[in-house]
Amino acid sequence: MKNLKGTSMRTEMHNLDGQGEQEVTVYDMPANSDYWLAVTDVVCPKCKKGKVLWAEAGHVPGYRICNNNQCGQHFLAKGSTQHPTLVEFPDRVGFW
Ligand SMILES: [Zn+2]
Repeated sequence: MKNLKGTSMRTEMHNLDGQGEQEVTVYDMPANSDYWLAVTDVVCPKCKKGKVLWAEAGHVPGYRICNNNQCGQHFLAKGSTQHPTLVEFPDRVGFW
């Protein structure tokens, strides 16, 4: 797992579920030369304990879920290779 150096958070307006824009938490993740490696199997930026796992089956590309059952936060990978981000789904936790 990668360390959290360079991780920061902020809020932005996003329309994640087609229900309209809402204020969500966005985590800036440390950049990696491979975008998907920057947003997959990395330390959860919310609980800092779990690992953010690939969870696109049944969801959309970029869907990720933290595997810490005390957290279980759902995220959507956004941003770019230079500035990868994980956007928090406000009401979606659990599943594990
Ligand atoms: Zn977590």
